[in-house]
Amino acid sequence: MTTRHKLVVGNWKMHGSHAANAELLQGILAARPFVAEVAVCVPFPYLSEVAVTLSNSSVAWGSQDCSAHVQGAYTGEVSATMLAEFGCRYAIVGHSERRAFHGESDQLVADKAKAALAKGITPIVCVGETLEQREAGETEAVVKRQLSAVIHALGQCIGEVVVAYEPVWAIGTGRTASPEQAQAVHAVLRAQLAAATPRASDMKLLYGGSVKPDNAAILFSQADIDGGLIGGAALKAADFVAVARAA
Ligand code: PEP
Repeated sequence: MTTRHKLVVGNWKMHGSHAANAELLQGILAARPFVAEVAVCVPFPYLSEVAVTLSNSSVAWGSQDCSAHVQGAYTGEVSATMLAEFGCRYAIVGHSERRAFHGESDQLVADKAKAALAKGITPIVCVGETLEQREAGETEAVVKRQLSAVIHALGQCIGEVVVAYEPVWAIGTGRTASPEQAQAVHAVLRAQLAAATPRASDMKLLYGGSVKPDNAAILFSQADIDGGLIGGAALKAADFVAVARAA
């Protein structure tokens, strides 16, 4: 019997505007209280206004990336120190879109997770296989390799991260992993974490990939799924609230 508290995180990706953000956040705030912990990871320019709107609420906020560097000549990068100044509780690192479109390696993702944690920000480390890798029977090897880099970089601090299993073929495609497929990978990840830290059974493992109001409850009821990382369904308050309530 697990005592893990569920976590539902919205990943806004590169969506939003002052007006759209205000409407979305008001919709989320109006639906409180949630049983699950709820957070939104927003584009960097909106962190300030989101922090103001959500301060003193039970809804947390975070970023969608975090530099591996502390400071310096890294044009376009945002450091964990800066994110901490804006009250970020979470930073997504290693999202498949960053791995694919920005060439982020396992080692870089691990370094980003370490940088976030050093400033008290919980990294949400994304792992997941492509369709080709799944069809080639490589799912387990791929996610273990991705997670292994983070375990190696963080040592015992690995117990402080959140891991999100996001099969690349399910992200933004409307194609969701079945609850059994997702649970099977989550069990593999938790076993890998258990070999690295005694805190593995307390760690939150999120599922991400076309989670919607109509499939959230069955996914979140799996033994090793502790909530979700939500993309498309995080952009409409009614959908996000329904997903959060399913947790
Ligand atoms: C994501 O981007 O993390 C994600 C899971 O997206 P979607 O829910 O749209 O598949």
